[in-house]
Amino acid sequence: MPSTERRCTLCILPATFPNISFDEQGRCNYCRKAAGRKAQVSEEKLRYKEKFTELLAAISDHPSRRARPYDILMAYSGGKDSTYTLCLLKRQFGLRVLALSFDNGFVSETAMANIRRVTESLGVDHILFAPRWDALKKIFSASAREEFYPGKALERASTICTSCMGIVKSVCLKTAIEMDIPMIGYGWSPGQAPLQSSIMKNNPALAKAAQRAFLGTFAQIAGGGTRAWFLNERHYRAPGRFPYNIHPMAWEPYNEETIFKEIEGLGWIFPEDTDSNSTNCLLNALGNHVHLEKYGFHPYIWEISNMVRDGIMTREEGFRKFSAPVNHEQVKIAKRKLGLAEEQ
Ligand SMILES: [Zn+2]
Repeated sequence: MPSTERRCTLCILPATFPNISFDEQGRCNYCRKAAGRKAQVSEEKLRYKEKFTELLAAISDHPSRRARPYDILMAYSGGKDSTYTLCLLKRQFGLRVLALSFDNGFVSETAMANIRRVTESLGVDHILFAPRWDALKKIFSASAREEFYPGKALERASTICTSCMGIVKSVCLKTAIEMDIPMIGYGWSPGQAPLQSSIMKNNPALAKAAQRAFLGTFAQIAGGGTRAWFLNERHYRAPGRFPYNIHPMAWEPYNEETIFKEIEGLGWIFPEDTDSNSTNCLLNALGNHVHLEKYGFHPYIWEISNMVRDGIMTREEGFRKFSAPVNHEQVKIAKRKLGLAEEQ
């Protein structure tokens, strides 16, 4: 529990976090490193806001804009952050948005209904991509049992989440390239992804390297059919079609109260059927549980600590995110669905 474990006195990273060290005042090395940067954060945010305005101008002046069906493909999970981002893209920035949702077999019923209501009330086109369940089942159950990503990845998310996001990002990139959509939008909260990556053009070499982390492993676990979710040589031969990734919440004001108010106005309903760290996914509880048991720290601690450090939430608010006990019923249901032994 948070109160008994040794933690950083500024953010909430615990002593169990990889490569952490504390100084005499109990401040962690991550906070010490960030201390000098704090003053520049708001200036930096402004710079990215301007950079985005410039990008939008370039996109709307682009000779092929008329031929392009959409300005941006939004990776839309139905959760609170991606719902808010979708709303910003459409209403604040006036973009022509195509929303893409990924059905991992564990989207909560409330989230599915939220997706329908929100896309309808915003008036955006929507695609639902549901990969074959037999393959997903093998990948998620292997992700619960084994570790196949480098250490840095497991500091930031559970292996189950990393597997799932690997498919989501790849399907979005592939779809954007194929449909000639110049941007992909993500609803990363300010703690999940740094400001420096909030406007970034994809390039074939980096994309290829990122895909390599998943392609071989997934094909081995669940068969060659999984290759259909990833890019192939045809995509790499069209570097001009590689889109920008953007996550506007990195520079836009982030306040949970405002977010809930705004999205509830679109018919979004707070789900009662998910665990406390997710507003859309029923697999999240198992991912968190496995990670916590295996590594001794919560997979969301990294992003929450970042937000505490940046003053986006207080330490108490951060703690509250973890104070809810593991939802054993959800863990049990997910294990059963994935064919995992219940005592595991
Ligand atoms: Zn710290």
